[in-house]
Amino acid sequence: MFGKVLIANRGEIACRVIRTCRRLGIATVAVYSEADRDAAHVEMADEAVLIGPAPARESYLKADRILEAAKATGAEAVHPGYGFLSENDGFAEACADAGIVFIGPPADAIRAMGSKSAAKRIMEKAGVPLVPGYHGEDQDEALLLAEARRIGWPVLIKATAGGGGKGMRAVMSEAEFAGALAGAKREAASSFGDDRVLIEKYLLTPRHIEIQVFADQSGDAVYLFERDCSIQRRHQKVVEEAPAPGMAPETRAAMGDAAVKAAQAIGYVGAGTVEFIVDASAEGAGAFYFMEMNTRLQVEHPVTEAITGQDLVEWQLKVADGEPLPLAQDQLAIDGHAIEVRLYAEDPDGDFLPATGRLAHLVPPEGEGVRVDSGVRAGDEVSIHYDPMIAKLIVHAPDRGQAIVKLRHALAAYEVAGLKTNLAFLRRVAAHPAFAAAELDTRFIERHRADLLPGPQPVSDRVLITAALHRLLVLGTEVTRRAAASTDPHSPWAAADGWRMNAVSHVDDHFRDGEREIEVRVHFRGGDYAVAVGDGPSLPVRATLGDGGRMTLDVDGHRFTARVAGIGARVHVWAADEHAMVERVDPFAFTGDEAAGGGRLVAPMPGKVVQVLVAAGDVVEKGTPLIVLEAMKMEHTIAAPVDGTVDAVHYAAGDLVEDGAELLAFKPTE
Ligand code: ADP
Ligand code: ADP
Ligand code: MG
Repeated sequence: MFGKVLIANRGEIACRVIRTCRRLGIATVAVYSEADRDAAHVEMADEAVLIGPAPARESYLKADRILEAAKATGAEAVHPGYGFLSENDGFAEACADAGIVFIGPPADAIRAMGSKSAAKRIMEKAGVPLVPGYHGEDQDEALLLAEARRIGWPVLIKATAGGGGKGMRAVMSEAEFAGALAGAKREAASSFGDDRVLIEKYLLTPRHIEIQVFADQSGDAVYLFERDCSIQRRHQKVVEEAPAPGMAPETRAAMGDAAVKAAQAIGYVGAGTVEFIVDASAEGAGAFYFMEMNTRLQVEHPVTEAITGQDLVEWQLKVADGEPLPLAQDQLAIDGHAIEVRLYAEDPDGDFLPATGRLAHLVPPEGEGVRVDSGVRAGDEVSIHYDPMIAKLIVHAPDRGQAIVKLRHALAAYEVAGLKTNLAFLRRVAAHPAFAAAELDTRFIERHRADLLPGPQPVSDRVLITAALHRLLVLGTEVTRRAAASTDPHSPWAAADGWRMNAVSHVDDHFRDGEREIEVRVHFRGGDYAVAVGDGPSLPVRATLGDGGRMTLDVDGHRFTARVAGIGARVHVWAADEHAMVERVDPFAFTGDEAAGGGRLVAPMPGKVVQVLVAAGDVVEKGTPLIVLEAMKMEHTIAAPVDGTVDAVHYAAGDLVEDGAELLAFKPTE
């Protein structure tokens, strides 16, 4: 086996490859761009080499830089992951020329499948069924139109060099053809430098079912069953599962054989995926057609690993090292059911466009049969430079029903905050009855749009009550801690048997949810509470606080667990299976006597100064943030109550302040 492997990728797939190498005792070399100096994959690898600036074109796509790094570190092989250089025949060849093993298929096999049209011609010869269509070299427009007519509307125009859904246009009728063709060609030319297209019959209710194949250097090949990747947005996968629901054993065998035939037809070696489109319409009767072959490890390979109990990266390393396939076809069997969902930094309500930002809070779920593959940690940035995938969540259970239950629980426990993600959308997919009923085809999201993308929802009372009680309970803990730590028996803190606020009848908390301002009033009832949201009724509430912001609540007889995290004035609440964010409007932020013109800005509660944003002499407008205080495990920004001048700042970052301490002297403008 190789002694050292370089991973020419980043993110979750680089981390995933490193994990297997480590288990097999193989040393690892990461490569990284300037944007990734502190990335997880760099930290995980035994060595790491800087290969260039942030843009992929200047780093992760720089074949020569990567090969230099391999030579300099003495790596014997390169694993390309997926994306980037994984399907670049020139890179595979350059590796071979440099005497470094490319962990993937031979350059010829990549080339053969690189053009969707050429791939189809090869498959046709091998007797693999194709979607009715045209995949010839002749690109004459009149000919393309004539072919489209022959195929029959609707048709799908695809860039032959395509990938990632680019250069693809559905054409519903002849009137749209010329415009769609021009659009597809333009997009193909700009994305791939090649404007050639092919035309296919556009199936209206298809399923995307793909076969995982594996071949070794002696020409032996097996299939590791199928994955159903029908739940897609923008023709790109978000949910994948194995096995495909409702797959008949004879269809599985027929598709598996066709896929193995496809691999052998091009002298394939290593891991590959043969993608099929399956006609799910009543007339289509489950006919399957070859779509394309991806000559690499696929994003969704973990579902196959789960149901076969195999490590596909280990298989890749062994085959690349010249070993035979670890198992023969009759030694492979399906165990249970696995589902993967892709957690993306994106905005489902904004056409699923990618989002960027800092992952201020990130707690992945854990448990038996739950796997999370991720390349980021809490605090990391999702930048504009790379793929916005945050993580993949994979669940495995004895059957599909149990896998869905596990998926729902794992998604409910997933905590992400700081940027827009598709998490709530994934939760709705997992909870949808049509998903439970396995009514899968590529229009799933479109068909259930109203349920899956309901738009911004007002936060529930449950969330507001949780946020308000969290603040009180954390403050109570803090006071009790201070009482215990106090050596002065006459200190007011020491006198607190629980909490001096018990002496008052109620506390108000204020939140903003979009345009809505909401007051939450908490009355103390012995150790319990009565809480009213806005003009709503006062509900009996019990609440306890555990570690790390975890809470148990009982609101009017409904018991649930919750977690709260504060990011600035934003309060994120995960209550039962709900996640919502509200903004706390802090009515204590300015307790100076404005009427008297007194300029005292005081700490609303005991805490620590984390940031001082102004200096003495600064002239500020109303609302300008002045000091950021951390208290009750949340940040509170003290802002200028009115236009004015900062006369003096009494604390520096890091200082601890008492409740009521004057933070800065402030003079309002006349
Ligand atoms: P890419 O290179 O972007 O992966 P594919 O050819 O694999 O392109 O197609 C991507 C997706 O587009 C498929 O998973 C499927 O959902 C849809 N698709 C492809 N071909 C057809 C077709 N003939 N009819 C309907 N949908 C199709
Ligand atoms: P699959 O067909 O295997 O599901 P996709 O086409 O959905 O794969 O995703 C592959 C894409 O992932 C690449 O085209 C690229 O945009 C992106 N990608 C490449 N490298 C990484 C990485 N390290 N982490 C996340 N995404 C990546
Ligand atoms: Mg594809």
